[in-house]
This record gives sequence, C-alpha cells and structure tokens, in this order.
Amino acid sequence: MELELYNTLTRKKEKFTPINDTVRIYSCGPTVYSYAHIGNFRAYVFMDTLRRVLKYNGYKLKHAMNITDVGHLESDADEGEDKIAKAARKENKDPYEIAKYYTDIFLRDFDRLNIDRPEIICKATDHIQEMIEFVSEIVKNGYGYETSKGVYFDISKLDEYPVLSDRKVNEQIAGARVEVDQEKRNPEDFALWIKAPEKHLMKWESPWGLCYPGWHIECSTMSQKYLGDEFDIHTGGIDHIPTHHENEIAQSKGKCGKIPARFWLHCNFLTIDGGKMSKSLGNIYTLDTLQEKNIEPLAYKLLCFSSHYRNKLNFTFQGAISANTSLQRLREGYRKHLKGTDDVEEEIINNFQKEFHQAINDDLNMPSAMSVVWDVVRYPKKSKKLSSLLLEFDSVLGLKIDQGQEKQEIPQEIQQLIEERKTARENKDWELSDKIRDIIKEKGYIIKDSKDGMILEKFEK
Ligand code: AMP
Ligand code: ZN
Repeated sequence: MELELYNTLTRKKEKFTPINDTVRIYSCGPTVYSYAHIGNFRAYVFMDTLRRVLKYNGYKLKHAMNITDVGHLESDADEGEDKIAKAARKENKDPYEIAKYYTDIFLRDFDRLNIDRPEIICKATDHIQEMIEFVSEIVKNGYGYETSKGVYFDISKLDEYPVLSDRKVNEQIAGARVEVDQEKRNPEDFALWIKAPEKHLMKWESPWGLCYPGWHIECSTMSQKYLGDEFDIHTGGIDHIPTHHENEIAQSKGKCGKIPARFWLHCNFLTIDGGKMSKSLGNIYTLDTLQEKNIEPLAYKLLCFSSHYRNKLNFTFQGAISANTSLQRLREGYRKHLKGTDDVEEEIINNFQKEFHQAINDDLNMPSAMSVVWDVVRYPKKSKKLSSLLLEFDSVLGLKIDQGQEKQEIPQEIQQLIEERKTARENKDWELSDKIRDIIKEKGYIIKDSKDGMILEKFEK
C-alpha cells in the first residue's frame, strides 16, 4: 500500500519512497533550557507516529534528533541572549549542568509518552569542530562572510531564497522590527557563527576568534554528519519553516549545493484558547501538571490523535480528562477481546487491517485510524484475533493498550487502611506507613509505590 506524506517543500501530498533501503530522518530536537511542555511534546508525538508508521510499512530507520544545548537565541532572527546561557545566569548554574538537567527530564517524559527513541540523539556541544568545518566550507564556497559580530550567510548568492516558506524577502525588511546591522550585505543574511562577548559563558576557539554556533548550523552539521548530504525526511514544528529550516536549506546549498532532505514535514501547534502554547506566553502545562489531575501521559498522546498533525489542536482539561477515560475504555475493550471465545472471519480482520493501514498511510491520518480502532474495540463478537489485531495497531499508536488492570473491588477494610497509610505518608510517618503496608499484605494485597502513584495488587496467600 502506498504511503503518502505532505511535503512542505512542494506544498502537496506525495508518494513516499526512500532513497535507500533505510529511511533516514532528521528531527529538530528540544532546546534544553527549561521543562518541555505538552505543546513541545505534540511535535515529538507526531515524530513518534511517523517512525511507527514507517516501521509498520516495513522500513528500517536511521533517525537522528539533536539536543540544542547552545546557540538558540531568544529570537530566531539572531536577536537576544542564548537561551541556555540566560537560564544558567538566572539560576546561577553552569550551562552544561542546566542542559543536562533539562535533557534528562525531557528524555524521561519522552519515555512516559512511549515515544520510540531515534537511533541517534546528538548534542550540539559535541559537534563544535564539525560545525567550524561546515562554516569554513560555506565561506570557502563564497556564501559566507565575516563581520565584527560573526560569520554571516549571504543569501543573495543563492539561486532562490526562500524555498520552503512563502515569505517575501524583499517585503520583509529586517530593519522594520530590529535595527539594521549595517555590516550585513542583505538584511535577511543570518548568523552562522557568532563572536562571543567577553562574559559569554559558552564559547570556543575558531578561525574567527572565540565564538559560539548559530542555531541553524547545528542542525545542518549534525544531519549531514549522521545522514549524509541528502536524506529522506526532515521534521519539526511549523514555527521552524520560515527561519530555521529555510536557513538550514540555505546552508546545505552553500556547502554542497543540495537541499538536504527530500521531504519536509511540519507539525502544527497545540493551542490554548486559540493561541500557541509557549513558554514565552506563560500558558504552558507539563506532563506533571496532567498527572496531578490524574491524567496519564499516554492519555495526552491519545488526545493528540484527535486532530491531524497539520491542524491545530486546542487543549482543554476537559478534553484531556475525556481522553483519559477513552484510554481506559480502549484497554478494557482490548481485555474483553483477549478473553473472548467468539470466532471472527478472516475477511473482517483483513478489512479492519486495510482501513487502518489506509488511514495511517494517508499522511498519518490518526483521527481516521482511531475510528477504525474504535470499530474493532466495539465489535460485538469478542475474539482473541481482534485483541491481536489491536496489539498490531498499537505498534503504531504506542498507547500500551495491553497495560492497566481490571477494576477490582477493594474491600472496605483495605480501603480504610490505604487511607490511613496515605495520611501517615503525608505526615512523613514512614514507620507507621510501613506497618500499615504489612497489615495490608497480611490481608492479601501488595502495595507498590511508583512515580505514577500507588498500585494495589491482590495475591493468593
Ligand atoms: P524548542 O524546545 O522551543 O526548540 O521547541 C521544540 C519543538 O516544540 C519544536 O519542534 C517546536 O516547533 C515545537 N513546539 C513548540 N511549541 C509548540 C506548540 N505549542 N505546539 C506544537 N509544537 C510546539
Ligand atoms: Zn533544527
């Protein structure tokens, strides 16, 4: 069955075939200066679905995602302070410490959303030498020039700019918003390599003095290092289209004359009251915020499937609570089929399979794919064959539908003890808490405390 993906570069849905046997993908990863919010994670849930759909279609993957731990300025248009350096200054910490702390939390949340990890996760600060070489090549090829502020890309040397976005360069005069840098040859020229002010925290020796990289050069360098001059798919959020990805394309053309990826896929925003969820607007929620309200991280993933990745998705707590209930229903539906003894004809299974495959291959149409999943869940005959089919679909959804427990009737007496133990723990009376746990065990129940809360399991004595 053909896989079609919408390519921002050509502005149409195209049949996807990889250059080689292995699909090579590059995804713009997080800037690790703060906690990633659920808006950010919409972009990574989309990335995860793409991986899983490609695997479902039988492809092997080589996928690189970067961690931006230097060089992302407050504005994408080369303005403001480096985000990591700013956080380090504010928190009075070493920038590497800041980056490591937020990277670890990001990857923990990645796992909570059961996001399939890219084969390569690479940090910008580990690739400084390669970036210097990349910039040197651009300069050598006549596309870059030095000013007192850094090394800039000369966009007038390109045959076409922009190619990805439809912004009109001549109409968008940089000086209208920011003071024009008189040393730049064209207002739209952008920084490849930035000369570091004396007190700047992260800087490296280079042919142009003590500098730090521009954000765009990181992605061009790492994608080329791991995936070659031309690879299959580049992903990111729609906010990357006009500047970051446009400039990545310019850089690769300046170095090796090629647009680096054949397909450019972009995920739309998670919004709140119609506006983008973003750190700068202060309207963000994290997975922890959801868990405080007893909404599982995977329920958020299910919520993401309610809208096509190219459309906006408006977040409400009501929506997230319903998604949480739906996730439990999905798992219950799976368990019912697992216990089922009815027979279901192969033709019915094949039809479901075909409809699901068609939906995901239609530019990852997850709302459509989910309606097939629900048809299987609600199918009146209960059969193990359908539970296996749901598990097969879950290789694309990544919702862990075979997890979760059946609702168990907890005796009043045990419930009372659980409440008492909760109070003991709130009072930090660990001795009493342990004692109550032992009493509960005597009565045939084991309590396990996990980061996601308490789990109660019955066992036969
Ligand atoms: P950042 O860490 O700011 O570089 O962003 C990481 C990723 O999150 C990028 O792919 C952004 O496009 C994406 N992103 C940021 N805010 C949102 C949002 N509200 N909805 C969807 N994606 C977002
Ligand atoms: Zn990038």
